[in-house]
Amino acid sequence: MNRAVSSLLTRHAARLGSLCTSSSSSPASEAWDGRFRLHKPRGQHLLTNPRILDAIVRHAALRPGDAVLEVGPGTGNLTARLLASPVHHVTAVEIDTRMVEAVTARAAALDLAQKLTVIQGDAVEADFPEFDVCVANIPYGISSPLIAKLLFGAYRFRTATLLLQKEFAQRLVAVPGDSEYNRLAANVRMVADVKLLMDVSKRDFVPMPRVDSSLVEIRPREAMPDVDLPEWLAFTRECFGQKNKTLGAIFKQKRKVLELFKRSQRTERCAGDAARTGIILGVLDDGNDEACSHEDDSSVPVAGFSEEEVGAFKERIASALDSSELAGKRPSKMSNNELMCLLKLFNERGIRFQ
Ligand code: SAH
Repeated sequence: MNRAVSSLLTRHAARLGSLCTSSSSSPASEAWDGRFRLHKPRGQHLLTNPRILDAIVRHAALRPGDAVLEVGPGTGNLTARLLASPVHHVTAVEIDTRMVEAVTARAAALDLAQKLTVIQGDAVEADFPEFDVCVANIPYGISSPLIAKLLFGAYRFRTATLLLQKEFAQRLVAVPGDSEYNRLAANVRMVADVKLLMDVSKRDFVPMPRVDSSLVEIRPREAMPDVDLPEWLAFTRECFGQKNKTLGAIFKQKRKVLELFKRSQRTERCAGDAARTGIILGVLDDGNDEACSHEDDSSVPVAGFSEEEVGAFKERIASALDSSELAGKRPSKMSNNELMCLLKLFNERGIRFQ
């Protein structure tokens, strides 16, 4: 980065840093940076440590000619560095019009406006242009839907280097058997390799958030797995809803069996992009997986079907579990290969999850 840009950025960061101290009297959800109020519910925590900002750009391993996507540029602390690198172009998606103005003005002040396009809108909803790399300190509230959109949408890119809440990042890189391992990790692992790059202290942000952060690299696999993704995503939702129970116990519950029976009987499947996107954006929600657990309930009626039909369906489930020899295993400790093998056996017996 050229020295003039660097010193300008350092001065800006120092200014924000000093204003941080004076913001302590602000209401809990806001902080004042001298121009406008920062809204914590919108994840407006500006990264102000120049060393960390430089390190993010270094880790992103940008190449000359790259098209970069940034989500939530804020006042442009990271954007300015991306623009000053040899990349071809930066597209930044920002929801707050005040931030759109701020980052646009900053690029103009650096004489780099021609390299920047700002899309004003919600990054979860907006269409992204083609990009090679995504580099961003994102609002943490949209971590799951954004990662789902990047990985399960129609985008092809080299890497996403994202600053995320530390606990979220730890779940993302967890492996089977780790206590944090969950549906998010299993689904992401299915299509990408994920690497923890560095931890970042909450003290490096203005206003200071309650949580620490970690920088993560997500690298989509070259070859996509041979699996029906919406079906896989619906399957992992069922498995990880009770990730510490055995599969045998999960798929013995009457309510679950009847739900699956109804789904499998449905002749008209919802198809089309909108439905798929709906499934996809919901699949990585990263809450308490165990919260989805159902009580056993034998009184759920299945209109129009006999007990024999439901009984035969139960036998098909049992047969898939038997053939897989996985009935005694718990989803939280299973590899994706094992899960994929079980899904195949279910599907072969006409048991469908979406
Ligand atoms: N990247 C900047 C700012 C991070 S704060 C920095 O590191 O300093 C997060 C930014 O994301 C804020 O500017 C906020 O307005 C924006 N934002 C919040 N929700 C968003 C959404 N759904 N889509 C796009 N931008 C969003």
